[in-house]
Amino acid sequence: MTGARLAVLGAGSILPRPGYGSSGYAVCPAAGAPWMLFDCGPGTLRALGALHLGVEDVGAVVLSHYHPDHCLDLAALLFARRNPELTRKPPLEVIGPVGLLALHAGLGTTFGRWVEDPSVTWREFAVDEDGRWSGALALGDHTLQLAAAANGHTPNSVSWRVSLPSHFELGYTGDTGEVAAVAELCRDVDLFVAECAFPAGQEAEHHLTPHSAARLALAARAKSLLLTHFYPSVDPAEAVAQARALGAPAFAAHDGLCVSLVAR
Ligand SMILES: [Zn+2]
Ligand SMILES: [Zn+2]
Repeated sequence: MTGARLAVLGAGSILPRPGYGSSGYAVCPAAGAPWMLFDCGPGTLRALGALHLGVEDVGAVVLSHYHPDHCLDLAALLFARRNPELTRKPPLEVIGPVGLLALHAGLGTTFGRWVEDPSVTWREFAVDEDGRWSGALALGDHTLQLAAAANGHTPNSVSWRVSLPSHFELGYTGDTGEVAAVAELCRDVDLFVAECAFPAGQEAEHHLTPHSAARLALAARAKSLLLTHFYPSVDPAEAVAQARALGAPAFAAHDGLCVSLVAR
């Protein structure tokens, strides 16, 4: 597959499960362009390798929140960028809500110069009074429009929307409950990547189940729904069946899944 595409690096949780690593999603805006990562949980670098991608292919990391299952491999990525075997290294931009600069400082305190890299730009943002933020991201010759909305999973966590040069609209919930602001952010997206941490019957305030993920996708009028972030208690096939029973155009993520991001 070439052109704009999404590669699932980790469709699971922090709990070990074959085929389902911690949260990480790689987005390629156009053939030959640097990739952007949505979240960067432990195992992200290993998963990049499985897809024959290297750290030199990553031009941006966009974070949803700072739970370790969503950001731990940032330290690994920074360390890898210092490796002398790397013959080329594009600039890297790291974007995240409030807490990013504290994370950066903490990594520096712990790892010192091993994670220092002057070619990395750190862009922390605060949402406005409506809980929103938007900005542009340059990836090679391409410009992506990013938008975020606070979702209440943690005090500063956000969900994301990215508008690709291919006119494909992609939504990514990060971790969230069934929050109207997320449906508004992701209105009419072509693909809605939604966490589905827990199975039906194990509802939690700040996570989704197959049913609440489906309701959120339907509220957003998303054209397709990719369920992901499965804890071991979730059967992905069952989750898809339950979401489809509510009318959501659902399918399930697994590590290594690649999806074309070309608007139909
Ligand atoms: Zn979380
Ligand atoms: Zn999580």
